[in-house]
Amino acid sequence: MRVAVNKEKCLRSGQCMYMHPKIFDEGPDGFPVVLAEDVPVELKAEAEDAADICPSSAITLVEE
Ligand code: SF4
Repeated sequence: MRVAVNKEKCLRSGQCMYMHPKIFDEGPDGFPVVLAEDVPVELKAEAEDAADICPSSAITLVEE
């Protein structure tokens, strides 16, 4: 599974970084940086939760 953040949709609300710091960190511009673009299986549920809680649907998950 791959995870990506659409900066045009992102509101920089921070939920993804706060709730799932193994996958997202805060970049210098306040947007999340994806730490685990290629999500390991043990973080799959966290990535799915991040996509669910994002208030602007800016997080995309792609199954490979
Ligand atoms: S939860 Fe969504 S809107 Fe908030 S910082 Fe993360 S990607 Fe951006």
